[in-house]
Amino acid sequence: MGIKTVYEDCDVLVVGGGMGGTGAAYEARYWGRDLKIVVAEKANIDRSGAVAQGLYAINCYMGTQWGENNPEDHVRYARNDLMGLVREDLAFDMARHVDSAVHKFEEWGLPFMRDPDTGRYQREGKWQIMIHGESYKPIVANAARNSADKIYNRIMVTHLLMDESRGNRVGGAVGFNVRTGAFHVFRAKAVIVSAGGASHIFKPRSVGEGMGRTWYAPWSSGSAYALPIQAGAKMTQMENRIVLARFKDGYGPVGAYFLHLKTYTQNAYGNEYESTWYDDTKAMVGEYIDHHPVPTCLRNHAMISEVKAGRGPIHMVTREAFQDPHLEKIGWENFLGMTVSQAVVWASQDIDPKYINPELTTSEPYVMGSHATCSGAWCSGPEDLSPDEYQWGYNRMMTVDGLFGAGDAIGGTAHAFSSGSFTEGRIAAKAAVKYVRDLRNEKIEVSDKQISNFKKTIFQPLENYQVGRNEIVGGTVSPSYLLPIQGLQRLEKVMDEYVGGISVNYMTNDKLLERGIELLNIMEEDFEHIGAEDLHQLMRAWELKHRLLTSQSVAQHTLYREETRWPGYYYRGDHLKLDDENWHCLTLSQRDRQTGEWTMEKAPVYHIVD
Ligand SMILES: Cc1cc2nc3c(=O)[nH]c(=O)nc-3n(C[C@H](O)[C@H](O)[C@H](O)COP(=O)(O)OP(=O)(O)OC[C@H]3O[C@@H](n4cnc5c(N)ncnc54)[C@H](O)[C@@H]3O)c2cc1C
Repeated sequence: MGIKTVYEDCDVLVVGGGMGGTGAAYEARYWGRDLKIVVAEKANIDRSGAVAQGLYAINCYMGTQWGENNPEDHVRYARNDLMGLVREDLAFDMARHVDSAVHKFEEWGLPFMRDPDTGRYQREGKWQIMIHGESYKPIVANAARNSADKIYNRIMVTHLLMDESRGNRVGGAVGFNVRTGAFHVFRAKAVIVSAGGASHIFKPRSVGEGMGRTWYAPWSSGSAYALPIQAGAKMTQMENRIVLARFKDGYGPVGAYFLHLKTYTQNAYGNEYESTWYDDTKAMVGEYIDHHPVPTCLRNHAMISEVKAGRGPIHMVTREAFQDPHLEKIGWENFLGMTVSQAVVWASQDIDPKYINPELTTSEPYVMGSHATCSGAWCSGPEDLSPDEYQWGYNRMMTVDGLFGAGDAIGGTAHAFSSGSFTEGRIAAKAAVKYVRDLRNEKIEVSDKQISNFKKTIFQPLENYQVGRNEIVGGTVSPSYLLPIQGLQRLEKVMDEYVGGISVNYMTNDKLLERGIELLNIMEEDFEHIGAEDLHQLMRAWELKHRLLTSQSVAQHTLYREETRWPGYYYRGDHLKLDDENWHCLTLSQRDRQTGEWTMEKAPVYHIVD
């Protein structure tokens, strides 16, 4: 094949330059002045990742300097929202460092809103502070650029390399440049994966021409999960997918509406409905429904139940708040930061929220580890806090030696958001630098054979297309290849119907999951025949393969946890109740590197905060 190969040898490789990755690059330089630090990013770090468009609020700030919150409070909050199950050691570790990261953002030029009376950061809610955040991402990208030896933009990383001198150690990563088509080989002593969450594994509500409009970033393709899964790393809480209550069709955010504009919801007949589902929810989850704040999934549950009962759609009552010109302005401006399209949708549907209460709906499920849920890799915690079972040497190191993670990639750390992900990148990088130093002059061995095998695998979809194309004279349907978009639609359909998506009201059971897993396995064989007509489609092909691995993991975990822990995120019809006696635990999976077999186990939840 006439494909150019570019080699880069480094100490620390950061895969994905989003919030976690930029934090990692910055901190790796601080501790590793003499080390070679490289970032490989699928897009361009200036505008990549979930924060690309900018944000209106930083959702995780303790405000310890003003006595507002302590890290313990945040652990309690995240634990409560996740129905008891988080990695409290990791959550505490992030929370105790997050304020310093936020102070850095201000130092680097991010404009913060301040309370005119107190001079403190303007709060939107207990944890959120408000920013003029259009340039949030370019600002953190600049810090990463000033720190890394080299930033490779437009590189889609497809696989991790393994060190052949040891059984279970990472040796770098490989991928390709989505513009030039060059094959890139990064040999590295430590790798930090921070490649974002996963959208488009379940069929979205917006299909056809609206397909690109999802709540989580459409370019978040599950690489943060697939890369460690392929390398045999253990994953945790992958069943803990998230469903969001958002403005219909534009997925516009509702947080500022509830918190700042004090708007509220009602059913189609103008009635409050949440309290009418109290007894039903209590029968499912017991005393968790009495917690404050009410866990997000349970509020979803009330909304989903109300619509199922025939009293939908649910409306957000904006007509009152929008009479105040100041609040009206804030209501519209809220979308400018990150969801301009919500305003466009309303304009196109003749909805002026001053006169018409807009509809809310629940989204399709997504997978992530940094927002309000905590799917991701199982990793070692901080030395001073973690119980023995959660600690194997280096903070945020996965169960593969030398492989670290941050942000959406790491499991158990819900409610980290942008600032917490950046902080987690810093934590992981500090540990990765220590790991590299401890290795000293030990070499990583990656054979030419390993590299050339990956090269063949990565570019195979181009070959499939070129050869298969000869068999047809027109159109997109070929007897011997499948296009990425066709594969994606197959995947989304199976996940939707069998693993608890929107068309089944988030309901699944053991039989559906077993069949779903069979269908996903068949798909894995079919996806060997994906055809890519150009480099862009080659990227789509690898995004699809990463989404498939993520989906398999989600399905395996959902089957394993025999209870309904988070009604409103998904339901196990054969186990419709929360079962603390048997399932007050974290779930772990591991996919065998060689055979592809999955094994599941439970891990205890340690409550290190009262
Ligand atoms: C709609 C929405 C609203 C949000 N609102 C807020 C908010 O108001 N406040 C707040 O604090 N947080 C908010 N968040 C959360 C915040 O954006 C995330 O927590 C944070 O971005 C996660 O950081 P990350 O590094 O894990 O992922 P990201 O920041 O998404 O970065 C992942 C990076 O990896 C790259 N990548 C992906 N795959 C590959 C690959 N195979 N090879 C190379 N690179 C790859 C991507 O291009 C991207 O640059 C919001 C998120 C979303 C989606």
